[in-house]
Amino acid sequence: MPRVRPHHPTVHRTPDAPQELSLVRLGRHLGRAALRRCPNCGSGGLFRRWLLMRDVCPGCDLRLDRGESDYFIGSFTVNLVTAELMICALGLAGILMTWPDVPWDALKWGLMGAMVPLPAFFYPFAKTLWLGVDLTFRPPTLNDFAGHGENFPSGGEIPTEALPSFPPGLPPR
Ligand SMILES: [Zn+2]
Repeated sequence: MPRVRPHHPTVHRTPDAPQELSLVRLGRHLGRAALRRCPNCGSGGLFRRWLLMRDVCPGCDLRLDRGESDYFIGSFTVNLVTAELMICALGLAGILMTWPDVPWDALKWGLMGAMVPLPAFFYPFAKTLWLGVDLTFRPPTLNDFAGHGENFPSGGEIPTEALPSFPPGLPPR
């Protein structure tokens, strides 16, 4: 006689509707990141100084560099592209507002002067925004949290695929 599995009320995710690719989730991550907060749990205090990011989130213990040595390249690219677009937008606005008597020299020196502070200003936002995008496409597992999950996230998303199955034998929650 076949063994009957006990009823388990867990809702299983289907392969064609993965939670990690939802637009709502992406929007939540980017909204938190735009405020320089942890995309995973929304906690603040990710930066010791404006340009100095902590190693782990003080709210959920997420490793902020996701444990990869070259992880900074993503936020570097976001920062570079955004700063260049902001310089272009400022230049275009300056031209449109003063047309036809555009003060070309003042515009040139003004934009050159903005090239240094703009990327420094946007740097922490580039870090959190890149982390938000990355967490959307690569949801965190227990290995992404300091202590390998012993300090379980208190306010963020629990990496359900890493949870043990209960009762034993059923797919993980
Ligand atoms: Zn967090």
